[in-house]
Amino acid sequence: MIKPVIDVVHLYARDMNIYGDRGNILTIMRRLEWYGYDPKLIEYNPGDIFPEDADIIIGGGGQDSGQSKIQDDLLSIGPKLINLAENGTPMLMICGLYQLFGKFFKTSTGESIKGIGLLDIETYGKSERLIGNIVTHSQQFGDIVGYENHSGQTYLGPKVKPLGRVKIGAGNNTDDDSEGAIYKNVIGTYLHGSLLPKNPAIADFLIKQAVTNKYGKFNHSEIDESLTQVARLVAIKRPR
Ligand code: GLN
Repeated sequence: MIKPVIDVVHLYARDMNIYGDRGNILTIMRRLEWYGYDPKLIEYNPGDIFPEDADIIIGGGGQDSGQSKIQDDLLSIGPKLINLAENGTPMLMICGLYQLFGKFFKTSTGESIKGIGLLDIETYGKSERLIGNIVTHSQQFGDIVGYENHSGQTYLGPKVKPLGRVKIGAGNNTDDDSEGAIYKNVIGTYLHGSLLPKNPAIADFLIKQAVTNKYGKFNHSEIDESLTQVARLVAIKRPR
């Protein structure tokens, strides 16, 4: 039987991919297979032609230098990404790319890295790095667990909502308890770790949106979640 194809784009796989972010791709690919779909992985790096079909787009974090490296290319594909987001394409951007999906990241050394402004957020580099395991709470996804490591502190504008509220850890900044941002089906967050293996509700949100956008409804086989749930509970006990 031919399985329905879902195209998964890994944005800047080479330069923006740290602290286990690749696990997000592996989780999306594997869960799509388990649900009865045929996921196709497309790695996008600077200079590549942006894929025609992008059903889910996932990007990771990076050093400030990695962010400077991809900045020009990101700005060149920015209008395409904004158009896809406005049309409901699900996306997940972690840390460094979360920041650059916003308006700008002013680094702690004074460099200003322009973002694409898809998310109504601004980021300012500070001398203190926010590092450690983190748990937040979201009405939509329940508790979200991961690992954060960033100097940038992010402030949300009125067009986005926080992804979660911090229970343990730092989150967007040291001034409020927000973590991440959500706009349409685009999720930005500081949580590495990897995020999706430990938070399958977020993986399923992205998958469900992608499949519904492409095929009208999300028909799927059942997944055995017993191991996922154990991994999740162990991870939630770690932050302190
Ligand atoms: N370089 C950025 C910062 O330090 C992003 C770091 C990351 O992606 N973990 O804020």
